Amino acid sequence: MLIKRLTVDTFRIPLPVAMEASSSGVMRAFDMVMVRINTQNGDTGVGYSVMLEGQGPAIAIIIDKVFRDKLMKQDSRNIEFLWHSMWHRHHYAGRGAPVSFAIAAVDTALWDLKGRTLGQPLWQLLGGFNPRVKVYAGNIDLNLPVKELLEGASRSIDEGHRSVKMRLGKPTLTEDLTRVAEMRKHIGDDIELMTDANEAWSIDQATRATQRLAEFDLIWLEEPLKPDDFDGYTHLRQKSPVPLAAGENLHTLAEFRELINRGCVDFPEPDLTTCGGITPFMKVARLAEAHNLPLISHGAHQLHIHLLAASPNAAYLEVHGFGLERFMTHTFEIDQGYAVAPARHGHGIEFDFDALMQFQVS
Ligand SMILES: [Mg+2]
Repeated sequence: MLIKRLTVDTFRIPLPVAMEASSSGVMRAFDMVMVRINTQNGDTGVGYSVMLEGQGPAIAIIIDKVFRDKLMKQDSRNIEFLWHSMWHRHHYAGRGAPVSFAIAAVDTALWDLKGRTLGQPLWQLLGGFNPRVKVYAGNIDLNLPVKELLEGASRSIDEGHRSVKMRLGKPTLTEDLTRVAEMRKHIGDDIELMTDANEAWSIDQATRATQRLAEFDLIWLEEPLKPDDFDGYTHLRQKSPVPLAAGENLHTLAEFRELINRGCVDFPEPDLTTCGGITPFMKVARLAEAHNLPLISHGAHQLHIHLLAASPNAAYLEVHGFGLERFMTHTFEIDQGYAVAPARHGHGIEFDFDALMQFQVS
């Protein structure tokens, strides 16, 4: 089980359709940093992080120049030990993103390696609760005109979704409310609706928005405020008639402790690729469970399905519109708003490297 080789590659992958969010503007591509770990006895694990276009090479350098030496000849089964070794290795300039993105790719490869070596799917290796996970479609975008917004929702419903999310953060609240009203009318009362403001608002704007959004029976409002405005979230949640979700832009377990202990959210929303990997994600999941909070995930749904399937408090898996399944040999089906975690060993993802290599940047 001793680590013999670590390979890190960065890919810049065009999005199938350009996306816009209030926090990041228009996105036409994203970066993916992929780690492959080989052991002396011939086993392999694959992990990856995804980030905004242009950020990948800097994160890959952390893995290549800072972590690699520390990992060679280590026992790949000691994932907690290796996670903390990487954390301490970059402690002075790190303790969060982009180091968390770098650790995440390695940590995911180690968990995949362990699952493949033991012949177990990741969701069972992590505890095993229920492979059937409730999903929602997370790709209804801010830049879309209303007609395309509604067509996108219909497409998701046709694909098997029963819950859809749309982005908020237009220049005026009136415009946002009009779009939400059109959406609710279009999908009817039986389809669940989530909203995501991607940090668009100040506390006064968010307070007003939540009052006005209450009539649309939303499952949640996501990231109305800046991600680390814990006081703001605590204040808003006490007043908001709409449940709040946040966490995709938090990068450490300590930040999630603040988010949860301060009563900031109804739905903690970790993303393993931003918070340091599967190891800290599962700690957040258990912390949320201890507070009786329903757990949701952000992005990387082919990985997160395992983590939610291992969590008794799993609520919703976001099925993202990044289109990474174009480069995978297996994808999961969505049926009546649910997906089933794969029974293949590890995370069960096999990449089509012939298709991917044309997008390699480092
Ligand atoms: Mg979001």
